[in-house]
Amino acid sequence: MSEHLMSTYARLPVTMERGDGAWLWDTQGNRYLDALGGIAVCALGHAHPAVAAAIGAQAGKLIHTSNVYRIAEQTRLSERLCRIAGMDRAFFTNSGAEANEAAIKLARLAGHRRNRHEPHIIVMEGSFHGRTLATLSATGNRNIQHGFEPLVSGFLRVPYGDLDAVRRVAESNPSITAVLVEPMTGEGGIHIPPDDYLPGLRALCDTHGWLLMLDEIQCGMGRTGRWFAHQHTGIRPDIVTVAKALGNGVPIGACLAAGAAAELLQPGQHGSTFGGNPLACAAANAVIDTIESHRLAARAAALGDAMQTQFVDRLGHLPIVKAVRGRGLMIGIELTRPCGELTTKALAQGLLINVTAGQVIRLLPPYILSDEQAQAIVDGVVRLIEAFAAEHAADPI
Ligand code: PLP
Repeated sequence: MSEHLMSTYARLPVTMERGDGAWLWDTQGNRYLDALGGIAVCALGHAHPAVAAAIGAQAGKLIHTSNVYRIAEQTRLSERLCRIAGMDRAFFTNSGAEANEAAIKLARLAGHRRNRHEPHIIVMEGSFHGRTLATLSATGNRNIQHGFEPLVSGFLRVPYGDLDAVRRVAESNPSITAVLVEPMTGEGGIHIPPDDYLPGLRALCDTHGWLLMLDEIQCGMGRTGRWFAHQHTGIRPDIVTVAKALGNGVPIGACLAAGAAAELLQPGQHGSTFGGNPLACAAANAVIDTIESHRLAARAAALGDAMQTQFVDRLGHLPIVKAVRGRGLMIGIELTRPCGELTTKALAQGLLINVTAGQVIRLLPPYILSDEQAQAIVDGVVRLIEAFAAEHAADPI
């Protein structure tokens, strides 16, 4: 059936046909509660009327012109994104990886400006930054890099959450120009660093004149209860990358920069045919309007707290449950053994979840969940884990 598709994805045997809010229906008419949201993309759920209306109106007016001309929707989006992120300028892309590519190019430009001819970026073990050559080289996962060597050079890797490791690498490497880090890991298993980590990185970047570049592609756009996850710490980064929920499914990403970093790129140094086109920007403007007017970041925080509390209360006693982690609607439940099969088991029960880093059940549901839907997700996940625990009760530890 799919013999003309490259076998890039290990797909589940289901085809979704339509959606409404947190619900999806497949081509057989089966209904699913979506606790994955297209992997942190559909923050407003499916077929959201405000997004659909914005796309429809824009499509009927103008879809694309190219960045040869001024684009009113892009200008408006840049102002609004910079306001909510505390940044000065935006460059628009079509994906998260491209937003990180722009950040990496900015770091290199900044290095060359300071006569560092081999500029290096500190990156983290267990990180994920994308699948392009530069971003997979920045990614801290050998499986993602394997087979694509030679990797792009210019990255120095340290353990996530470890400020001393950053200090040590700085001592022997005068060529460093930036740090690229996720404020909370997504693909790496929903890890939250210690409270002093981002402020500590900010201080190190200030001392050494490095750029602090935060990949908020998965954790940004309100998911953790603030527009951006780093805003829980009060620091101001130099660069923030966003994508995923920005367009609620319409492909769009952005590299946002502040201060000197925002002035680095000059005409001709970077670009994108589609990046920031009227259609994608109209969708993203509608997403920001809706999150703002319905206070959905606060809703994500409240729902997430309530869900996490229940997971801890109802699952904490099971030996198979190693940890419950998360912030807002970015929740991970780590088990003591690989549990990829739970994705298929959940699907059979009408629930969409995901397993990342082998043994972390990951939930990234839309912020528009009703209380009843949030409860149904909790009940479904608890049932799955209890059954899995019972199945593996006799396994050697
Ligand atoms: N950075 C992070 C933290 C991500 O989670 C992802 C995607 O999962 C990316 C970058 C890459 O984004 P995209 O798949 O849109 O290129």
